[in-house]
Amino acid sequence: MSDQGSEQGAEPAHASGVAHPSGAAHVSEAAHPSEAGAAPGAAARRDLAVRAAVEQGLLDPASPLVGLLDVTGVRASAAALRAAFEEVTPPGTPVLHAFAVKASPLVPVLRLLRDAGIGAEVASPGELALARAAGVPPAHTVLDSPAKTPAELREALALGIAVNADNPQELARIDAMTRSAPTHSPIGLRVNPQIGGGSIGALSTATATSKFGVALRDEGAREWVVRACLDRPWLTRLHTHSGSQGMPLDLMVRGVAATYELAEEINGRAGRQQIDTIDIGGGLPVNFGSDEESPTHAQYARRLKSRVPGLLDGRYGLVTEFGRSLLAKHGTILARVEYAKTAGARPIAVTHAGVQVATRTVYDPASWPLRIAAYDAKGLPKSGPAVAQDIAGPACFAGDLLAENRPLPLLEQGDHAAVLDTGAYYFAHHYAYNSLARPGIYGFVAAGSDPAGPAGPVVFATVREPQTPEEIVAESGGGQRDALRDL
Ligand SMILES: *Cc1c(COP(=O)(O)O)cnc(C)c1O
Repeated sequence: MSDQGSEQGAEPAHASGVAHPSGAAHVSEAAHPSEAGAAPGAAARRDLAVRAAVEQGLLDPASPLVGLLDVTGVRASAAALRAAFEEVTPPGTPVLHAFAVKASPLVPVLRLLRDAGIGAEVASPGELALARAAGVPPAHTVLDSPAKTPAELREALALGIAVNADNPQELARIDAMTRSAPTHSPIGLRVNPQIGGGSIGALSTATATSKFGVALRDEGAREWVVRACLDRPWLTRLHTHSGSQGMPLDLMVRGVAATYELAEEINGRAGRQQIDTIDIGGGLPVNFGSDEESPTHAQYARRLKSRVPGLLDGRYGLVTEFGRSLLAKHGTILARVEYAKTAGARPIAVTHAGVQVATRTVYDPASWPLRIAAYDAKGLPKSGPAVAQDIAGPACFAGDLLAENRPLPLLEQGDHAAVLDTGAYYFAHHYAYNSLARPGIYGFVAAGSDPAGPAGPVVFATVREPQTPEEIVAESGGGQRDALRDL
């Protein structure tokens, strides 16, 4: 239970009142000159990147909002994920880590992960196209979605991509397709162990009435699944994904354990290892309250090893589908403060980051609190007494606030607000309210090691260009200007 406190449900909303989250890292790095040659930590890398983004003009009055992605951090998380499962499985156990593309649907990011040995979990024709554009091989791709069309299924089966069927009707479609065109695709069935929800209802997929998978505890359902497998020798996988963010580790482990037990029952009745692979989904929660990464993939893997040892003894191949836990902590949204004002004695920083890049936080701030760090006009960490202030976005509705009454050094016009831990489900998940432009996204590698000295050589690469007003017009029917007149 040691990592219990770091789970989302245990964090009070808007808990992070620290003046500058990375301040501690500054002090400790500066205080240990013997470590000056050591690679900077995540917080120090972020500070270097913010300063360099301002100095190099990525962010200027005309483009006052960017997304920054810490490539060093992404590589480290990918390596740590692979190591975590290598540690708990015998050598040679097939393990595919398929990144949930919905967490960061950006081709260069999928390519970076592919180079780090990570595949792709896709859930729509668009996500499959992104994974293919990134060069993720079919053998490292898994298709899950509750609403796959016949065309999607046919494409996946033709490519040899692993498919997890969601329900009996989908399985019947696959029956018909595999009869007429044999496939190399491994086929699985998604089950819902109905173990209950986490702290965020909208993201809990293993509730009694969840729309996902075959609800195992429903009358007759378990026997139906066993028979469905026995009737189909090619049905070789079971899949479960109990939820995203807000799921306690123990609940996730229980969902996986229930799926493993079902696989054992099927294999026992088949008299052979028919189910050879279990897809345990993703859903490892992310700590949005500090720079600490907890729980870690290694903690989750070890807990699975102690609670479901048979799953990891080498008899089963594994698929994982982590998204948020691989990317969240490596992204920062950086926005200029356009104006600073007060209303009813409350200071308000009006920035360019709001509902368009932090949709969940703006609409459901209690479930999705984000840390904010204050930087000055030059991109240096801002110090000074903490003043409770609102950090507002640019959209035209009153609730467009990233944080309310947040104690931070007072943000002034021309300063910068950094929204932390936004590498998954934030800056790549644009919401086109007010036709606000999609910001540019830049990956960075920070080579400098002394944040107190001159800015280190930070190198940026464009992941996605900022959207232009011309593109907004074109995507908004600009080419069909007279379409309605001519009706
Ligand atoms: C969303 C999703 C994931 C990834 O969830 P994270 O919380 O980002 O790890 C994995 N598998 C399925 C089926 C999903 O729907």
